[in-house]
Amino acid sequence: VVNGKLVIPDQPIIPFVRGDGTGPDIWAASQPVFDAAVAKAYGGKRRIVWLEVFAGETSFKQFNNWLPEDTVRAFQYYHIGIKGPLTTPVGTGIRSLNVALRMLLDLYACVRPVRWYAGVPSPVKHPEKVNMVIFREATEDVYAGVEWQADSPEARKLREFLKTELKVDPAKLPDDAGMGIKPVSTFKTKRLMRKAIQYALERGRRSVTIMHKGNIMKYTEGAFRNWCYELALAEFRDKVVTEEETWKGASTAGKVLIQDRIADSMFQQIQTRADEYDIIATMNLNGDYISDALAAMVGGLGITPSSNIGDEYALFEATHGTAPTYAGQDKGNPGAGILSGVMMLEHLGWKEAAKLITDGIERTIAKKLVTYDFARQMEGAKEIKCSEFGRAIIDNM
Ligand code: NAD
Repeated sequence: VVNGKLVIPDQPIIPFVRGDGTGPDIWAASQPVFDAAVAKAYGGKRRIVWLEVFAGETSFKQFNNWLPEDTVRAFQYYHIGIKGPLTTPVGTGIRSLNVALRMLLDLYACVRPVRWYAGVPSPVKHPEKVNMVIFREATEDVYAGVEWQADSPEARKLREFLKTELKVDPAKLPDDAGMGIKPVSTFKTKRLMRKAIQYALERGRRSVTIMHKGNIMKYTEGAFRNWCYELALAEFRDKVVTEEETWKGASTAGKVLIQDRIADSMFQQIQTRADEYDIIATMNLNGDYISDALAAMVGGLGITPSSNIGDEYALFEATHGTAPTYAGQDKGNPGAGILSGVMMLEHLGWKEAAKLITDGIERTIAKKLVTYDFARQMEGAKEIKCSEFGRAIIDNM
């Protein structure tokens, strides 16, 4: 990292975790695709040197540790990593390995591009209109875990404090209410919005839409909206135009349009006017909901990648879990895992290799060569194995 920018060598070392359940099958299908694309794009000048690190159930069985310190250190040392899905430990102190990694590496933006590939089964009439990228703040909001059970002494104490010290109407705080806190901060809002705008500018995207419920939650979601606009105008004034400015005649030509929408309306908009939206910047809970709604519109878990990005580190992964039913059967859809690798290649700046893979996926699906999850919903499709799907992508690059 030089002056806050990544400087990528031609042969970067990248740590990877195979993952649990179907993870190893998916990795086995994916890695050859990444290697083939890089080789084809750069004729041997560039190459990824893969470094295996461990986490999850596999790691627990081998090292009696769900998340070894070496793994975290490897991600920190090499800055970029890719991982398969991990079994969430039950009955240990760790809530979720993904949350732990996000916190340890300060991966504050969960970035999920959602687009449709021709032929993928979809429940909507015009999935081709969906081409959005969600920037979900991943470290605060109601996900911060600041909450107490209704009958706990803490909840009781908090209710008392609110009533007596802050004069909250007791009718709003029934004795049997569980209590949760929703922190939304200026700093974390602004760094998320900064990433979203930078992404839009780097990739020539049209707009960033701030999704919030600020009409009701004024000082959290409403403040998020205001801080996002503030940041956009303070740091990107000559590169952005707000929707309000366009009402007064300002042109959007060559600029990124900054607009905002109320969260509930956003769910309508993605179905009725999907092609009018591009980048969405939002808080943790809204982001969680809208990501899954959009993913469903373009074919679901088999095809939706994600990345967790901070100022220093980035970790790429499929959105889906371990799909334990299909572990070891060479059957799961490696599409989402492979597309998370595409995001990683784009992050490295290796756009040519990334494009070869997306082209390969497009052509493979267009030929109706798909894994079981798509095959059962597509007429005339040929069901192929996880590894075969990987090979077909390489053949179709
Ligand atoms: P899941 O994503 O594993 O499975 C949900 C459904 O989608 C299942 O029907 C599954 O068969 C199907 N599916 C998932 N991935 C698929 C693929 N690549 N191809 C075809 N079908 C696929 O979610 P779950 O069952 O709720 O969770 C299983 C385990 O995974 C749990 O331990 C959970 O905590 C963990 N998990 C991990 C992550 C992660 O590491 N990022 C994310 C979600 C869940």
